[in-house]
Amino acid sequence: MDFSLSPQEEAFRKELCDWLDKNTPELRQRMRRQGPPGGAPGAGEESPEAQEFTRWWHKKLYDAGYVGIAWPKEYGGRGATIMEQVIFNEEMAKHRAPGGVGGLGIGWAGPTIMAAGTEEQKKRFLPKILSGEEVWCQAFSEPEAGSDLANSQTRAVEDGDDYVVNGQKVWTTGGMRADWAILLAKTEFDPSVPRHRTFSYFLMDMHSPGVTVRPLREMTGAAAFGETFLDNVRIPKNLMVGQKNNGWYISMGTLEFERSNSSSAIQHLTTISNLIELTHKMERNGQPLSKDPVTRQKIAQFYIEANVGKYIGLRALTRQLRGQTPGPESSVGSLLAMELGQRIEDLAMYLQGPYSQLVRGSKYAIDNGAWQRSFLASRGRTIMTGTSEIKRNIIAQRTLGLPRYTE
Ligand SMILES: Cc1cc2nc3c(=O)[nH]c(=O)nc-3n(C[C@H](O)[C@H](O)[C@H](O)COP(=O)(O)OP(=O)(O)OC[C@H]3O[C@@H](n4cnc5c(N)ncnc54)[C@H](O)[C@@H]3O)c2cc1C
Repeated sequence: MDFSLSPQEEAFRKELCDWLDKNTPELRQRMRRQGPPGGAPGAGEESPEAQEFTRWWHKKLYDAGYVGIAWPKEYGGRGATIMEQVIFNEEMAKHRAPGGVGGLGIGWAGPTIMAAGTEEQKKRFLPKILSGEEVWCQAFSEPEAGSDLANSQTRAVEDGDDYVVNGQKVWTTGGMRADWAILLAKTEFDPSVPRHRTFSYFLMDMHSPGVTVRPLREMTGAAAFGETFLDNVRIPKNLMVGQKNNGWYISMGTLEFERSNSSSAIQHLTTISNLIELTHKMERNGQPLSKDPVTRQKIAQFYIEANVGKYIGLRALTRQLRGQTPGPESSVGSLLAMELGQRIEDLAMYLQGPYSQLVRGSKYAIDNGAWQRSFLASRGRTIMTGTSEIKRNIIAQRTLGLPRYTE
């Protein structure tokens, strides 16, 4: 890949930097009111103010043409090049600017619809994902089907022009506020058929009668995900993605998009900048921690790893722009990013010493307790999008060609 920028790409960077320089002062002001940023995404409280703030920032980005940089123009995107997408990600990180609403819609529901949906589905759903008018969630996991997703029991039975869905999903991030869900449900009930050929993939209206989402409170104190109960929910047949009983393979593509998009190394570069700011504020033995040799070594190592992750991410993005899914290699980048994210948060706690015990509400809490919330949220990173063990299994089997593990 050629990393030198064309005049058009240089012009894009300049235009974007000018826009960010103009708009980040107001962003910072609003963020200060919210409490300063910590590390891991998803750590924010689900308060109405936080939601309002994200909607405001999303609209600003969208109106300026900075949402869906590499998405085709016909679906509301900018139709820009891979390098422009990379420049955008880099500059957002450098300016420490957060993303907008609908990370899941833009990151993996939308790309799945783009790769496997009908033209009618693309026209109906993609523009509203980008504008933030419709927010998406993912209803895959069940109480007895997490790593072993093929054990899912939710059933979708044909009835006239619809499928009627019954079952229970769990850990549905954003389910309480979502307008639409990507759903995996069983549509073949013959026990002699291999499990992977028994599922279909649906787009489900979360406002349909029969959908109930009960919030689950996490150790951060926020309720970012919920249990989703599906009781005779009707889904029109034209909202199935791909062929009947082919949903497993489509869901594997979704997971690849999810793994390549959910915790990017570039987000870590932003967190590392926040960490560096922390080292200037905290002292040990009368010296700022920014002068402590061990702390400096650790942060430099994080920076190296975040950059390795950045280039792994570029490979996945290249495949995506060629119309392919990111491939099993997306597990390499995701595993690196998720585990690195936890180590960065661990160091932030260590640097704060006894102050690390103080949470939001204490007047002595560092950065108003933002690091404590993001530290707690980061524990879920090696579980969400598939656990670290599952990702290592995928790398061993599908990338390195090692045989499948059986006891
Ligand atoms: C923050 C967060 C957000 C999430 N958001 C969503 C969402 O929006 N939508 C959704 O559908 N799901 C979501 N999930 C669920 C997530 O996908 C599952 O938690 C994950 O797949 C693990 O499943 P499980 O919790 O059932 O654990 P289990 O599958 O029961 O695993 C338990 C332990 O056994 C290990 N294990 C299991 N099988 C193997 C194996 N074959 N080899 C080696 N070790 C193994 C696992 O690594 C783990 O340590 C979210 C989870 C978290 C933490």
